This record gives sequence, structure tokens and C-alpha cells, in this order.
Amino acid sequence: MCDYCMEHGAGGKWYLNATHYSEEIVEKYNLREFLLEQYASFEQMAVRKVGGFSPVGMDYTFRMPIIGRVVKMLAERMLHSQKPPVNPFRPDGHIGQVVPLEDAEAILMHCAAEPIIEKNCMCRYMSRGVKEACCINFGVMSEIIDKLPRFVPEKEKYHLTRDEAVARFREHNAKGYIGTIWFGPFPYINNLCSCETPECAGIRPRVDFGIKSIYKAEYLLGLNETACHGCGACVAMCSFGALRMEAALGRPVIDADRCYGCGVCRHACSTGALFLVPRDRHPALAGKY
Ligand code: SF4
Ligand code: SF4
Repeated sequence: MCDYCMEHGAGGKWYLNATHYSEEIVEKYNLREFLLEQYASFEQMAVRKVGGFSPVGMDYTFRMPIIGRVVKMLAERMLHSQKPPVNPFRPDGHIGQVVPLEDAEAILMHCAAEPIIEKNCMCRYMSRGVKEACCINFGVMSEIIDKLPRFVPEKEKYHLTRDEAVARFREHNAKGYIGTIWFGPFPYINNLCSCETPECAGIRPRVDFGIKSIYKAEYLLGLNETACHGCGACVAMCSFGALRMEAALGRPVIDADRCYGCGVCRHACSTGALFLVPRDRHPALAGKY
């Protein structure tokens, strides 16, 4: 279990604890007002200074010796903050974890607060100028997005039943999009995303700069060598470079250290040779998120 599972998952996975989706938390931290202010000014946040540094051109800042390290440390501290949310213009308490399809279904069917909507992904829009409805929101977050037309998909039905939300998530997952669940802000969960890298502003800091902006999943990929016929289709599905074909073996090999446990590569396999196993069962990677 990751740090948040240990501290806030009541002995299980933090994102399967329904308390984190509750109206009680919304009221306690006045999140209606907080999130409305945050999302009404969302684009401006990208140019406001965070911890004394402008996030514009952050790639360069991160690579600077000493200063880069300090900024990374500040960013990580901000994302992992467990202080009550006070400043809507800082991404405090916005930590997430990769989730496979099975756990996403459990979130949508049993934990997520209603109403449930699907909004345009802001990461894709800000990085590529593409509006794609694939970000599932819950509870108060859905109410707020309803008031902000620029986030609302133009033609698609975006208010979803639980079953419709599961079906939409499955579609995205089958395309290779990585399921991720987020505190926003801690301790409230309101976002189940279907991400791509490098567009995702949550995954990229981890993959490219080593900032713990997101935890790997509770799982790792396993391969049934007998069932595999060596087509190689799974390799292209992995966004993290955790799979490569090994000609001498006639099958893929898994780099478990690179595997985020998203499980999307399974969609490419027609023989069912790929499966997920709990991360804790891997002697070298147990506890390494
Ligand atoms: S190898 Fe791991 S990280 Fe890559 S797609 Fe499969 S489960 Fe996800
Ligand atoms: S997609 Fe399945 S059968 Fe093809 S190489 Fe990958 S594991 Fe083997």
C-alpha cells in the first residue's frame, strides 16, 4: 500500500474509502467556494507564481542545478500537503495514483459522489489545444464545472449514470489512456482521469523530472508465457516503456521497475496472456510506488 493507503485508506486503498468523496468533507472545508474560485481562474493559475517561481518554462527551471532541486522539493511538498485547503491558486494537496480498470469501476459504482459528469481534459487542451471529453468528475466538482461552459463538452452528453461512466472509462482505457484518481484538494476526491503522457500535468513531473506527483498503481504486470504467441501488440500500448520484445525469447519482457501497473496493455492482447498482480507480492518492488 502507498503512503496515502497506509494513512487514509483505513487499511485498504485510499481511493476506495467512500469518506473521501463525501459531502461532509465538502462542507467541512468549504470546497464549493474554493473549487469554484480555483476553476473559474484555472488558466491564470498556469502563469501565477508557485512557491516564488513561475511555472512557465518550468522544464528549464527543473534542470537548473541547486535551484531545480529546491523547486522540485517545493512542488512535491505542495502536492503532498495535508494542510486544510486555503489558497485556491496553489495546487496544494493534489496527489494522485494510477488505477487499473477494475479499481476504476469500483470507484464509479460504489464510491464516487453524484452527480457524475465527463468534462474536457484541461491537460490535453493546455498542451495540445485539443478538447477531449475524458475526465470524469464527481460531486461538488461536477456542480462547479456545470457553471463553467468552457470545460463542458459541446456536443456530447456529459451527465452520466454510474453505468455510463464505467462504459466511458472502459472506452478510454481500451485506447491506452492511463486511469488516474486524484485528491483535489486533499482530503477530497473528485477526479478520475484517463491520461496520456506527456500531456498529463500530473504524470509528466514524475516521469520526466522524478517528482512524486503521482503514485504507481497497487499492481504490476504479469505475463503467462505459455499463452503468449509473441505478436508484440502489447509493447506499443505501454506509455512507460515497461515492455519490450525479446527476439531470442520470442515474447515480450517486462521491466517491472518501469511498470506503473495501469493494465492498459492487456487490451492489446488477444490471448489473455497479460494480467495484474498486487505490487506487494513482488519482493523487490513491494512498497515502491
Ligand atoms: S507494462 Fe505496466 S505500465 Fe506498461 S501498460 Fe502494462 S501495466 Fe501499464
Ligand atoms: S499482446 Fe499478448 S500475445 Fe502478443 S506479445 Fe503481448 S502478451 Fe504476447
